[in-house]
Amino acid sequence: MLDYNQPIETGAIPENGAQFDVIVVGGGPGGSAAAAYNALNGCKVLLIEKGVWPRDKICGDAVGGKSLSHAKELGVLDLIDESPHYVVDSILFGSANGAEVRVMLPKEAYEKQGLQSGYALPREQFDYLMFHKCQEIVRKNGGSVMQGFNVTDVDVEGEGVNARIVGVRGNFGKSDPQELQFSSALTIGAGGYNCPVSRTITLDVFNEPHRDDDHFCGGYREYWDNVEGLEGNEGQIEIHFVDEVIPGYFWLFPVGNGIVNVGIGMLISEERKAKKKGHWRGLKKTQDWLIREHPRFKDRFANSTMIAGSAKGWQLPFGSPRKNPPSHQPRRGAMAGAMTVGDAASLVDPFSGEGIGNALLSAKLTSKHFDKNLHADGFTTEAAEAYMEELWEILGKELSNSKTLQKMMKWKRLTNWFINKANRKKEIGTIMSEMIASKEAQTELWNPWFLFKTIVLP
Ligand SMILES: Cc1cc2nc3c(=O)[nH]c(=O)nc-3n(C[C@H](O)[C@H](O)[C@H](O)COP(=O)(O)OP(=O)(O)OC[C@H]3O[C@@H](n4cnc5c(N)ncnc54)[C@H](O)[C@@H]3O)c2cc1C
Repeated sequence: MLDYNQPIETGAIPENGAQFDVIVVGGGPGGSAAAAYNALNGCKVLLIEKGVWPRDKICGDAVGGKSLSHAKELGVLDLIDESPHYVVDSILFGSANGAEVRVMLPKEAYEKQGLQSGYALPREQFDYLMFHKCQEIVRKNGGSVMQGFNVTDVDVEGEGVNARIVGVRGNFGKSDPQELQFSSALTIGAGGYNCPVSRTITLDVFNEPHRDDDHFCGGYREYWDNVEGLEGNEGQIEIHFVDEVIPGYFWLFPVGNGIVNVGIGMLISEERKAKKKGHWRGLKKTQDWLIREHPRFKDRFANSTMIAGSAKGWQLPFGSPRKNPPSHQPRRGAMAGAMTVGDAASLVDPFSGEGIGNALLSAKLTSKHFDKNLHADGFTTEAAEAYMEELWEILGKELSNSKTLQKMMKWKRLTNWFINKANRKKEIGTIMSEMIASKEAQTELWNPWFLFKTIVLP
């Protein structure tokens, strides 16, 4: 078993001014995968990460089937299987009035792909294994990898429609930082919600919005030991639509060995509204209250302790469609010389909060759209447009459906009624299982007759 607490050896750093086919900014799951997929396509890649492994990432730690299929393709799944993890066999949904339904995840659908239903494991561990394997692939294919390099500037040549991203510069090392610059035909922005590449594309070059409080979510996470009912290494994860954070939710995701990732998330625009009305205490205090005082949760935490240092907040850039976007949905994510992936492209599911799967999917798509021979003089505007269009063609429908579900959660009575009904009617549980396993099944959910027949009729 790979020891994910050890530093990762990433080899010699390239010479200042070196040229690559592809530079990837950010070594989270999206960046690691984008670097590996492009290296496997024969590209000379530079993978840059500002942190130094091992490093934490604030998350719910649920790694679904979509993520696991990419992890398998990149040879990371075996490493995960060898290391401690929690196997998710079901999701328990709780409504504001306390109704609950446990939705079993269809093992057969995943097993057909050679996968389990889904895992939960700390991102410190998952990201380590992804980065470890992907940096090996990059280096085996003639590329370079740097940790501790903070990209501060993105180099742009030309202006307006002729603008092209040609490389990056930044500081390497902490105590006596060295300023370095690298160039490439393609730069991939994978630096998360505040990625310098995506900020350059949207704000600096196209003067389009980057951040949008209606589509950005605040998230807060803690690790707790010994929460009642979540002790083993296989079982349910829990999502509770409690009054205090609707349309967001309170989650309890076990990661194995008795440790549970406990957190809450809420749209930033909804937090603002609640603040204005004077009844918002902030994510941390709300979670504290849920754990210590809420009648449904306090007893389950009676013998638990929070793991010191695990209380942290972060942001989730949702992929929900914007109203009247100036160019692309969910926002502009590519231009001549650059593509963005994962959180840098704002692709987190607005209902479930899952972002790893779409980060990996978009990472793979970059390798389909970049051809080092065709784009030797630079990744073109036409290719950038084709990437954005295909990405939205693949994800647009499911992200839009998830936005509808997110909006529906605001109607508390409807959620209460639906969860109550789902608890009593087996077919609804089956639909929910299929929806989670296969995004295609969501299409059926929006068929009005099907909905009426399954949900409304007794
Ligand atoms: C509270 C919370 C709960 C969540 N729960 C889940 C969940 O249960 N399941 C799920 O699938 N998703 C979840 N998500 C979403 C998920 O965490 C993200 O979608 C996912 O991490 C995106 O991966 P990424 O590689 O695009 O970006 P990130 O994981 O953010 O990685 C970006 C990387 O870029 C590096 N970087 C940033 N700036 C620079 C720079 N200037 N120079 C060099 N490197 C840089 C960072 O250090 C980081 O390593 C959650 C998110 C939050 C905040």
